[in-house]
Amino acid sequence: MTDKRLPFTLSQLETIAAQVGTPFHLYDEAAMRANAQAFYRAFAWVPGGFKNFFAVKALPNPYILDLVRQVGMGGDCSSLAELRLCEAAGIRGENIIFTSNDTPAKEFQKADEMGALINLDDLSHIEFLETALGGRLPEFVCFRYNPGPLKAGNAIIGKPEEAKYGFTREQLFEGYRMLRDKGVKRFGLHTMVASNELNPEYFVETAQMLFDLAVEVKQRVGVRIEFLNLGGGIGIPYRPEQTAVDLAYVGQAIQTAYERTLVPAGLAPMRLAMECGRMIAGPYGYLVSRVLHKKAIYKNYVGLDACMANLMRPGLYGSYHHITVPAREGGARKVYDVTGSLCENNDKFAVDREIADPQIGDLVVIHDTGAHGHAMGFNYNGKLRSAEILWQGGTNYKLIRRAETLDDLFATLDFPGLRG
Ligand SMILES: *Cc1c(COP(=O)(O)O)cnc(C)c1O
Repeated sequence: MTDKRLPFTLSQLETIAAQVGTPFHLYDEAAMRANAQAFYRAFAWVPGGFKNFFAVKALPNPYILDLVRQVGMGGDCSSLAELRLCEAAGIRGENIIFTSNDTPAKEFQKADEMGALINLDDLSHIEFLETALGGRLPEFVCFRYNPGPLKAGNAIIGKPEEAKYGFTREQLFEGYRMLRDKGVKRFGLHTMVASNELNPEYFVETAQMLFDLAVEVKQRVGVRIEFLNLGGGIGIPYRPEQTAVDLAYVGQAIQTAYERTLVPAGLAPMRLAMECGRMIAGPYGYLVSRVLHKKAIYKNYVGLDACMANLMRPGLYGSYHHITVPAREGGARKVYDVTGSLCENNDKFAVDREIADPQIGDLVVIHDTGAHGHAMGFNYNGKLRSAEILWQGGTNYKLIRRAETLDDLFATLDFPGLRG
């Protein structure tokens, strides 16, 4: 079986663990930068310009946002907190796209105040936004398209026709007419129909679908869309036998579609965007934990000092995250359930998984935790969220978030005897 490699050595990891304390999430800065550059190279051909708006929810840490800003990305926000994080990291104006559903007025107000691109989820949100902004609309408005049965979904995001997001096809035409009549000057179109998708054709088809739709909007409504956002959803190879999406291929195939569809329709140059999060951060994060206990009952268990509060995906979706025991790789292997300490039986990082047989006290590395890892953390059972570190090679790193303390946990409780 193929394996997944670690970019650091065990002794580097032990040095960092001795300073930071386990568990922690470690993010590989150089690898994140290299991947971002490869992504941008694949779309360097776009005449109107290409930008990835990093989906902040994947890894909402301002040091990471600063890094993605440095490599030319914007931010994809869907809440007030995410807008504030981008603002602090220097991601401003049209480097932000605000996409949300069921949106509170104050979030629209903040997005507008920051000059963000606003992406609406429903026809009724046109008036809601207008009211929220005191009777005016921004100069630019984008719509989120839900293709419904035209597009097959996948396991995480579900079938588009079952999904709560976006406009139907007919609503789009009506919406652009409304925007035009209300004096909006610049128009965008967005869709987000994939999640963790490894088939490159999916993204090419999505681009073609949006290109065709932009042409149809021009023909039927006379509105020229200037910005097409193909959404995020590029998957990552969580399993060792999977392969990453070939970005260069996706870029070239989308170029072919662009030249075939947008150029003859007079819609070039068109700005293209994506809003990938997982693919930008996921593979470059590692949850580093230590073995606290082993037990053998009806099954064999390895208990870690991390739990589902540090990484929810396996417990929530049954997701696979590869596990390496750096001190024991190449030695005996054994089948275990790898658990955390929550009083919930789904607090398991792996079930019936053959891993290098660890000893108590060994470091265990859980792969691909850079996206929706720390971000989905929670405090059930009074578990504290871990530190995050940005690894810069060797034993160099930056602590980009300290671990929570009990004082943090109790900060909202005004009750004697809990503090200190
Ligand atoms: C989550 C999300 C993304 C990012 O998806 P990835 O799978 O991380 O690429 C982009 N856009 C919207 C609207 C999302 O909800």
